This record gives sequence, C-alpha cells and structure tokens, in this order.
Amino acid sequence: MNFGILQRGDTVKRGKTKNSFILRIFYVAVLCILLIAAMLFYSNTLKDNLYSDSVEKLSEISEQNVKVLNTQINGQLESMTEVAARIAVPTNWDIDYTMFTLNKVMNRYPFKRMGIIFSDGKAYISSGEEYTMSEHDMEYIDDSFNGEIIISNTTVDAFDGSKIISLQVPVYKDDEVAAVLTASYETEVLQEMLSVSFFGGQGYSYIVRANGNVIADSNFPTSFKNTENIFDSLSAADSSNAAAVEKMKYNMQFNEDGYIRFKNNVNFYMYYSSVGINDWYLLSVIPASVIDSTRSDIMFSTYLLCAAVGAIFIVVAIFFIRFERKKRRELQDILYVDPITNGYSFQRFCVEAKERLAQDDRPAAIIVLDIEKFKVINEMFGYDEGDKVLRYIWSLLQKWVREGEIYSRWIADRFNILAYYNSEEELLKRLNALAADIMNDRTERRQGFVIRPVIGVYRVIDRELDIQSMQNYASIAHSTIKGDASSGCVAFYNEEYRNTILNNKILEDQLVNAYEKKEFVVFYQPKYDAVTKKLVGAEALVRWKKPDGTYIPPFKFIPVAEKNGFIINLDQYVFKMVCEDQRRWLDEGKNIVPVSVNLSRQHLYTPKFIDDYSKIVEKSGVPIDKLELEITESAMYENQEEFLAIIDRLHGIGFRILMDDFGTGYSSLMMLKSIPIDVMKLDKSFVDDYNDEKGEKIISSVTQLAKSMQIEVTAEGVETEEQYEFMKNLGCDNIQGFYFAKPMPREDFDSLL
Ligand code: C2E
Ligand code: CA
Ligand code: CA
Repeated sequence: MNFGILQRGDTVKRGKTKNSFILRIFYVAVLCILLIAAMLFYSNTLKDNLYSDSVEKLSEISEQNVKVLNTQINGQLESMTEVAARIAVPTNWDIDYTMFTLNKVMNRYPFKRMGIIFSDGKAYISSGEEYTMSEHDMEYIDDSFNGEIIISNTTVDAFDGSKIISLQVPVYKDDEVAAVLTASYETEVLQEMLSVSFFGGQGYSYIVRANGNVIADSNFPTSFKNTENIFDSLSAADSSNAAAVEKMKYNMQFNEDGYIRFKNNVNFYMYYSSVGINDWYLLSVIPASVIDSTRSDIMFSTYLLCAAVGAIFIVVAIFFIRFERKKRRELQDILYVDPITNGYSFQRFCVEAKERLAQDDRPAAIIVLDIEKFKVINEMFGYDEGDKVLRYIWSLLQKWVREGEIYSRWIADRFNILAYYNSEEELLKRLNALAADIMNDRTERRQGFVIRPVIGVYRVIDRELDIQSMQNYASIAHSTIKGDASSGCVAFYNEEYRNTILNNKILEDQLVNAYEKKEFVVFYQPKYDAVTKKLVGAEALVRWKKPDGTYIPPFKFIPVAEKNGFIINLDQYVFKMVCEDQRRWLDEGKNIVPVSVNLSRQHLYTPKFIDDYSKIVEKSGVPIDKLELEITESAMYENQEEFLAIIDRLHGIGFRILMDDFGTGYSSLMMLKSIPIDVMKLDKSFVDDYNDEKGEKIISSVTQLAKSMQIEVTAEGVETEEQYEFMKNLGCDNIQGFYFAKPMPREDFDSLL
C-alpha cells in the first residue's frame, strides 16, 4: 500500500488550474479587444473632431476677415456721406473748399484719389485735375445720381490705368442729387485690409465675385499670381480640381458659404464666404498640410500611444500569466512534494489529513515522530547519511501505514502520521514495532550508532481542531520523552501535559525570584574509593529550598532552567558556593576532597564562562585540583569541535573533566578515544543492569578500555551491597550512590570531612 508517495508534478488540482488558466487567457483577450476597440473609436472621433475643428477655424477666420472688410469700407462710405453733406453748401459750389475738405479726408483713408462729379460730366479731382467724363463713364455713376451708394467692382484708373475700386456717394442739395462724390483705391489696398495673417502666416485671402472674377488678388508666395478669374485658375492648376470648382461655383451662385480642397502643386483648403458687398466673396486659403499635418501629427502620436499602451498591456499580461503559472507550479511542488522523500509535504499532509478525518470516523491519532539527536548524525556522519536515515524511515512508514493512513516529513527529521486505531494498546504496539524497526537500522558507516525515534501521539478527540493544533498536542507528548531509553519512546498526549507546560511557565518566573532570594542551596553527595571505602570526593547537587523548608528536586526545575538559559546563572552560583565552602573548610584546617560541579550543556554555547569560572577560583584561592567539572556525555558529541576547544582551555586552567551519565548517549567505545576526559561516570542504568550477562560484558569492557586510557571510572547510583561488590569487582575506581550516602546539606558533609 502506498498512500504517501506522490510523483513530482502530479498535483491534485491540475484540472481546475487548467480551466482557470484558459479562463484567464479569455479575459485577457477580451480586454485586449475592448482596449483596441476603445482606442479605434477614440482615434476616429479625434480625427473627425480635429478635422472639423480645423475647418471651423478656417471659417471663423474668414468671417473675421469679412467683418474687417465690411467695417472698413462702411467706415469709408460713412465718412464720404458726411463729407458730401458738408460740401453741399446752399450757395454756389466752392470748389476750393471742396478740394480742401477732400484732401483732408484723403489723409485719413488709403484713397488713391477723391473727386466730385457733376451731372454735366465735369469732374474735379483731389489731386487738382479737372476732367470731363465721357458719356460711357457717366453710365457707371448713373445709379449714384439716382441716390445710390455704389461700390464698384474692379475698374481701371482713368489717369494711370491701375486696377482700382471706387466708392460713389450722392451729394444732395435741396433734396436733389447735385453731384457724386467718388473715392478710389487700388485693389492692393483691399488686399492689405485682409492681410491679417492666420494659421501661423500660412493662410492668405482673395476677394472675388460670384462669377470668379478677381477683385483683390493675393501676392502670397503660393497664391495664383495675376489671376483674372479664380475658377479658371483653379481649373488650370490641376484637373483634379474640377469637382471642387463646380461645387464652389454652384454654392457661390446661391450665395452660400463653404470650402473646397484643391490642388496647386500641393493641396490647399479654400473657404469661401460671402462678403455682403456686391456679389463679392472672400476666399481664405491655407495649405492642406497645415490642417492635415497637425491632424496627422496628433493622430500619429495617438496611434503610437494606443499601440504602445496595447503592447505594454499585452506584455504585462503575458508576464503576469507566466509569472503566476511559474509561481503556482513552484508553490505546488514546494507545498505538495517533499524533495527528500518525494512524498507528501507537510502542507499537503495537513490538507489531506483534514479531509480524511472528516470522511473517516474511525478513532484516529495524529502522531509526530523524530530521531533523537538527528543533528548528531548529520554532524558525525554527514548530511548524506542523514538523508539516508530519513529515506529509510520513510520506507518503513510506507510499509507501516494501513488503509486510509497518511504520513509526511516536515522540517528536518520530523515526520507526521495520521493513523487509525481500535485500542490504545494496539496503537502503542504498532508504534513500538515501528520504533524497533527504526532502531534496527545499524550500518557500518554509523559505527553501531542507534537511531532512536521519539514519538508523540495525540488521540483525535476534537475532529474540528486544525491539524497544526493536533500536531502541537502530539509535540507536547513528544517533548515529555526523556533522553534515556528507560521511559520508552512513545508518549500519548494527555491534559496533564498541558498543565505541565503551564506550570513550567510559572516555574520560569519563580526561578528568577528564588535565585534573587538565595533559595538555592548546594548538597554534597560523597564519592568513595571502591576498594578502601575511603571518602575520595563529592558531587555538588543543587537543591531549591522553599521558605517553608521543603525541597524541590532538580528534575523539576533543571529542564526549565536549561530551556530558558537560566541554568548558566544557576551553575555558576553552585560553583561559587562550592568554592566558598571549600575555602572555609580549608580555613578550618579540614582535609578537603575534590568536589565535582555539574556544567549544563548550555555552557558549550557560551565559552565565556571559562573566564568567569577561573576568576572565581582565583578569588577563592582553592587549589584547582580540588574542583572538578561534570559534563553529560550527550552534550560532548553534540558540538564536538567546540567541546574539544573548551576542554582544552579547562585543562589548561587545571580542571579535571568528568564525563557524566556515560551510557545514556551515543558514544561508542571507539569514540572515547577522541575526547580527552579524566573521569568517566557510569550511568545508573549500567549499575541497574549488573545482574544481566550482557550488561556485565559491556561494563567490564568499558572499564578496561577506560583504564587502558588512564581514565578513572566512577559508578553512579549504587544502591545495594550486591551492586557495590559487582562494580568493585569489575574494576570501578570510585562509587557514588545511596549505598554509601545520599546527597546531603553542607553541614552534614562538613562532619564527614
Ligand atoms: P546527575 O548529575 O547524574 O546527578 C546524580 C543524580 O543521581 C542526583 O540526583 C543524585 O541524587 C542521584 N543519585 C545518586 N546516587 C543515587 C542512587 O543510589 N540511587 C538513585 N536513585 N539516585 C541516586 P539529583 O540530585 O536529583 O540530580 C538530578 C540531576 O539534576 C543531576 O543528575 C544533574 O543532571 C542535575 N543537576 C543537579 N544539580 C545540578 C547543578 O547544579 N547543575 C546542573 N547543570 N545540573 C544539576
Ligand atoms: Ca552529575
Ligand atoms: Ca550522572
């Protein structure tokens, strides 16, 4: 059965992913289309607007010019009407006065000449000439003699033949038209009136009649020069202008305004607006490029902008889709596949376990399993070996699980299992069998190093609880398992543990308080020579003496102090007390013995303690050979390098180093060689095994090896006569145990000295 192995990339939610991917592509496509449509619409509207804007501007300029023309000519006519009234004195004509007046008016206006014509054809000109009009000439001014104000079309100056316009105003005398006042100016003057530049000096104007005959020409560089008839010129300029000319002719015939586009080498727009004088039209012309180029400039940049926005949008969309796909794939792999075992990742386990617990209502348990001191395996035998161990456990789990059960590896060596059970005993049996299988994995490379699993079990009571919390409960149970094999390697979570944890929290605070109030005292447990039964030393053991006189044993508070680092202070305090006691006993002339003090593993992380300790020794003046340090075996291998360095320095000062609790850790006999210790303390578990044949063999070979290396051997926890005899016979040098003495207050130890 295989419920945990998962192939890389074989993810559960692939189908769903694919659909949502297609949907996403669809959205992006729709968005792109909408964007392009919006841009096209915008650009078209912009194009139309720009176009009609330009044409409108052209028409406005035309209107403006028409107004200018009208105002000026009307102003001239008004002045002439005034003059006419002034010169028409009741008596005879005073020609001199008339001429004087006309000349004054001439100064104000751009007139070429002014004159007064009488009905008999006699004409007086402002420049002094007298002139007799021909009958033909008189026809032209007939209407003025009939009382009309006339503005002539282009005519020819009778004196110099230049092209002129003439204004004619009747002069009334006794309600009769007695004469006609005339003023003329050259058509160029008209042109000047219109020379308001427009479109940045690129536009110019003509004045023409409805039939196309030119009244005022333009001398703008690109204009038709000396044109007689604008229609003829337009037609002659380019055959493609025909339709435009027709349209213009037609409109002008009906007095309508409008514009055409024509070609004269290049393209132009021409706006024609009726002037309101005779049948005159003002033609305003600008090169098409002026309108088109601003338009196409704007259009071009608009298109460019659209294209850029579109491109950026697409690139960004593609980037995001790709990025997300990649991320998701990575995430799925990370989340769902464990790279070392190729099986379920922890995250996947949580998801699956939750689902399974909801569907399967058999009694279930969430289990955490790890290897004690896995770090040591990695450090001592290499990470490959560590990975091998993990894979080995994985393969065992693969065989171990039953239908519906799953497992995964979490960080480092931590495994999680969802298992079902009928009874607690059955589950415990299964787990013990698993543990036994794990411990059975001995390889040559690991030199007999035993992989010891530690298993915490949470029986799922509340199925609604999230898997992480269940995990935490299992971990609490897990953390109650001690480093020695005696307590077994499986623990079930119960509510008490929670209390323990709570109590530990309270304890942490109390520890500091007790330390400040000096509630910690030192007890001494004597050590005796195995053969002579003489007192040869003692071990200092800390006790917490409550104000009510009761003692709290170390196993209750040492683990807490070790966890939060307080142990550093406590150990140093004990060391100081011991130095002080030794000093006093020395001063009292007592025959002191070496006292060993426990050093927590925490010290190996803070080598600074060496200086502190040597200062304390110096200050007390106690001979260094009367002080010893105990370090537990397992700590020595955890940080072997640091440990060796520290031991070197301690030896340098003169301390003897005792390896405490030998036999509970992992050190093989061979490894003893690499650590320069002075005394080996056989753990109580060895002593307890004294009547077991195998135990006996081990103990004797250990003691022999130790002796061969000049390492002294002390047996701990010797309680009975038999144990004592046994240990003595196997060659232990010293004995520490209740058989001789229990740990005692300093006053009691004092009397032993
Ligand atoms: P340990 O260093 O192995 O200390 C020996 C323990 O064995 C002491 O327990 C001692 O009372 C007990 N013992 C000695 N002979 C016998 C015997 O014949 N039978 C039995 N059943 N037990 C015996 P204790 O004093 O309760 O200390 C427990 C542990 O607490 C110590 O184990 C040591 O690891 C730690 N500890 C005690 N004092 C200190 C200290 O000042 N600093 C540090 N870091 N740890 C300390
Ligand atoms: Ca000890
Ligand atoms: Ca010990």
